[in-house]
Amino acid sequence: MNDRDDLNRYFRQQAELFPEDFYIPPEQKASRVNESSDMTDYSPEIPSYEPQVEGDLSAYEEQINQCKRCRLGESRINFVFGVGSPDADLMFIGEAPGQQEDEQGEPFVGRAGKLLDKILAAIGLKRDEVFIANVLKCRPPNNRDPKPDEIEECEPYLVQQIQMIQPKVIIALGRIAANTLLKESMALRDMRNKTWNYHGTDLVATYHPAALLRNPGLKRPAWEDFQRIQQKYLD
Ligand code: URA
Repeated sequence: MNDRDDLNRYFRQQAELFPEDFYIPPEQKASRVNESSDMTDYSPEIPSYEPQVEGDLSAYEEQINQCKRCRLGESRINFVFGVGSPDADLMFIGEAPGQQEDEQGEPFVGRAGKLLDKILAAIGLKRDEVFIANVLKCRPPNNRDPKPDEIEECEPYLVQQIQMIQPKVIIALGRIAANTLLKESMALRDMRNKTWNYHGTDLVATYHPAALLRNPGLKRPAWEDFQRIQQKYLD
């Protein structure tokens, strides 16, 4: 690709992601990203698991998809294991399936998911090149927050998936996913710009796409997060 192609791609991405905003020349944007980034390592205390499974990811899905370890196993329509490449470099983790995800058995298929697809396209990726999952595999009734015992029962499944996929980085989408995984209680703005460690894998936190839909002002910092991710893990 030549410089002009790069520039065109950049403008297309900006128009797609921030139709309401002015464009920023790429040189300025790149230096702003570097200046503001503080990719320090943070390793909070996280309980360890020793999950073990034989076979590949789809065998693992077969093994766990009838789960009734918590009450959500009774109310769900579908167990939402996660989708994407078993060799993904990037693994996205949201909070829990919503109504559409429960109905279709796939994470991030609603409006927030469509925006996630656009963000992925903007960093040159398709949905089937990353892996997308949630902290919880089953929908909490009325999309209430996950309860501690549900997280305790479900999180080992996620840790097992991470160990099988071995992504370069986990991207926690939203405060609840980030706080739940890292056993923290922090505002998302204080969790961004840091590289955390989750069971031996880098983890970065950014805004949930649903938050970007509610508050378009967050799109710009989210875009900066994705650029940092692209630079550090994909380039
Ligand atoms: N929000 C999430 O956190 N996960 C989904 O799968 C859908 C919406």
